[in-house]
Amino acid sequence: MKRDGIKETVWVIGMKEVSEVVEEVKKLVESKAVKIDRSNEMDEEIIHALFKNKLLGVLVPEELGGAGLGLLEASKVVEELAKVSCSVAHSTFVHNMAVDGILRFGNEEQKNRFLPILASKKLATAMITEPSGGSDVSNSIKMRAEKSGESYILNGTKTFITNSTHAEIHIVVARTGEGKKGLTAFVVEGNDGIEVTKLNPSGMRGSGLGTVRFNEVEVPEDNVLLGEGSGLKVALGMLAPARVPFSSIALGLAEGCLENTIAYIKRREAFGRKIAEFQFIQFKIAELFADIEAVKRLVYHAAELAGKQDITVLAAMAKLKSSELAKRAADFAVQLHGGYGIISNSYADRAYRDAKTLEIAEGTSEMMKLIISRAVLS
Ligand SMILES: Cc1cc2nc3c(=O)[nH]c(=O)nc-3n(C[C@H](O)[C@H](O)[C@H](O)COP(=O)(O)OP(=O)(O)OC[C@H]3O[C@@H](n4cnc5c(N)ncnc54)[C@H](O)[C@@H]3O)c2cc1C
Repeated sequence: MKRDGIKETVWVIGMKEVSEVVEEVKKLVESKAVKIDRSNEMDEEIIHALFKNKLLGVLVPEELGGAGLGLLEASKVVEELAKVSCSVAHSTFVHNMAVDGILRFGNEEQKNRFLPILASKKLATAMITEPSGGSDVSNSIKMRAEKSGESYILNGTKTFITNSTHAEIHIVVARTGEGKKGLTAFVVEGNDGIEVTKLNPSGMRGSGLGTVRFNEVEVPEDNVLLGEGSGLKVALGMLAPARVPFSSIALGLAEGCLENTIAYIKRREAFGRKIAEFQFIQFKIAELFADIEAVKRLVYHAAELAGKQDITVLAAMAKLKSSELAKRAADFAVQLHGGYGIISNSYADRAYRDAKTLEIAEGTSEMMKLIISRAVLS
């Protein structure tokens, strides 16, 4: 049975169907996935291809130079990319999350100023997490933004920031006062006064993960999103729906693991038979396949409801279940590849490391359970 989510519906970017565009870029990504993982470096040819094919402008309206598509399409794009590289899928995802933040919380002037460049040439970050913590967003943010004339001056440190080694536009949440109302979101353009130290993660390597130090960075007040004191609303409002495309990365990883493993066990023999012929293994495949289909329905359902109702809880459920699934699928892939599964830089080894990372990035599984249980008990 061929499962190819992106081909279920036809969308068009320019003159081409999205599935065609993604397939083209996916081939390039696949050819470089091991190198990206090994070197822990983002690949500029891939970034260029993502821009050229509007996959980094998938959410940007057509009149501003993007593809003008929605959260479901953006989710399917990263699902496909994640089958070959979670790192590239994650970079694409974070950029699109920043775009979505400006789309939903920016004023018309900000949208007209930033979205065309985000659709065509400049990579974005979304900077919330600091060394003091990522789960407790409102209490952990210490970065200061002091008002000075018609600007703000930003000082402080963000960490675990995806795309930070290559990005030129940043959404940054900093402190302008005390408590939950003391946070403000800014669009920072350029890297003057910004110093990036690249991190060396075990999973999602090559997605530009870094610690970012702001030293007297001047940001015009025109770059504040939604007004001073609205930073927490912007941060949480950006993170919540983004968990849907993030879940699609986990889904893509699980699908990639299943496809890869099936191909292997149809070739590999033990006890005079192909490994795929053992019923115990066939049952495991059946379970994984059924789980992938169940999670896929949950993720797509959440994506379809985005913009029509609050999807915070649905998105948290999708994130929790998809990252658990990805971990199980990667474990299965390693196990079924036997010794080859733990050889550094094999598909299964990379998937295993990436899958663990998926349980932490974009809000940990514990935070997802907190969101879900609060809603259930309220
Ligand atoms: C690959 C990767 C990419 C990332 N990209 C970005 C990015 O682009 N931008 C950005 O801003 N951040 C990014 N992050 C940061 C990510 O959002 C945080 O790592 C995450 O939110 C957890 O924060 P923390 O690491 O500070 O852990 P902490 O908040 O310190 O939590 C540590 C542990 O305690 C648990 N915990 C905390 N509070 C509770 C509680 N109340 N109940 C039960 N358990 C609890 C957590 O679940 C976790 O297991 C990225 C992280 C990774 C790994």
